[in-house]
Amino acid sequence: MSHIKRILVTGGAGFLGSHLCERLVEAGHDVICLDNFFTSQKSNIERLLDFHNFEFIRHDITMPVWLEVDEIYNLACPAAPGHYQYNPIKTTKTSVMGAINVLGIAKRCRARVLQASTSEVYGDPEIHPQPESYRGNVNPIGPRACYDEGKRVAETLFMDYHRSNRVEIKIVRIFNTYGPRMHPYDGRVVSNFIRQAINDEPITLYGDGSQTRSFCYRDDLVEAMIRMMDCDGSFIGPVNIGNPHEFTIRQLAELVVKYTGSKSKFVHKPLPEDDPLQRQPDITLAKEKLDWEPKIELEAGLKATIEWFRNIDMSHYRAPTPNHD
Ligand code: NAD
Ligand code: UDP
Repeated sequence: MSHIKRILVTGGAGFLGSHLCERLVEAGHDVICLDNFFTSQKSNIERLLDFHNFEFIRHDITMPVWLEVDEIYNLACPAAPGHYQYNPIKTTKTSVMGAINVLGIAKRCRARVLQASTSEVYGDPEIHPQPESYRGNVNPIGPRACYDEGKRVAETLFMDYHRSNRVEIKIVRIFNTYGPRMHPYDGRVVSNFIRQAINDEPITLYGDGSQTRSFCYRDDLVEAMIRMMDCDGSFIGPVNIGNPHEFTIRQLAELVVKYTGSKSKFVHKPLPEDDPLQRQPDITLAKEKLDWEPKIELEAGLKATIEWFRNIDMSHYRAPTPNHD
């Protein structure tokens, strides 16, 4: 087995974090999962609690924490619009204070630290597809700013700790990712459409449904994050990770109806303020530096996600967001 590392995963009980913890535990690493369960469930990490190389800490990353580790994956942050807009001030604090706290650990322990940044740093992009060199079009005073600007400041802090303190950093910009363990009431488009379709409820298309997103399956995404952490330290990013196949939201709705065999009809709701009209990653850099590209296309990924949604008891899910549709 390769070298065993002590790895901290903040937000490790979440949708992506719990899968990342599984991968790292299976690889034999000593994994510490830190989470405050703001948007996640204990059931996400239940299976891992039986492993001797897995440990859970209930903690809020806006507060300092003293740990000795070799690597940190910083994922703690609500990610769905309904979740991050629920308490927007806390969202910005989580990104900014969370970054300062993990960078502090990394500096003290000489640990390598990876930031889960986002395609939201590009805002509503005027350049399509989006390369890493694009500086973005974010509205700093809109309802998405708490998340977008929080993540932008986190990138700034990572770069400044790197330049000023030689902290070993990695930044990945994650584009829309879906899969099993998404919160069924997170309000994101994939979870909403699947939940609505399997219950034969109306499918809520915001706007005319012509806005686009490019959907990456969870396993592909987590593979890219691990490759980024493990690659040569001179490559710090930021690097886009996501699936470049672009779909309109209406196309996504049609596919979900087809794969679920649902009787649901479409209803239109207003397009939320500042909703980006298009989004597609340029993954040239990830291909070149990480030898990575997604393998799981939307049909296979959606079918696996639908299967998972059919098998969970949705009444067990707490939603921080008051708005379920
Ligand atoms: P998620 O909401 O399932 O996971 C986030 C986790 O962070 C949750 O377990 C939550 O309880 C925890 N958390 C939130 N605030 C915290 C705090 N103050 N202290 C400790 N823990 C806290 O969302 P996800 O989709 O798994 O996203 C994980 C990371 O990836 C986030 O940083 C998100 O911004 C980033 N990301 C995700 C996507 C995507 O499409 N899934 C896209 C871009 C970026
Ligand atoms: N969306 C939609 N119906 C829904 C939920 C979302 O039409 O029930 C749209 C939303 O307006 C956006 C896209 O789907 O254009 C993706 O939304 P999501 O919240 O999943 O992610 P983000 O906007 O952060 O990419």
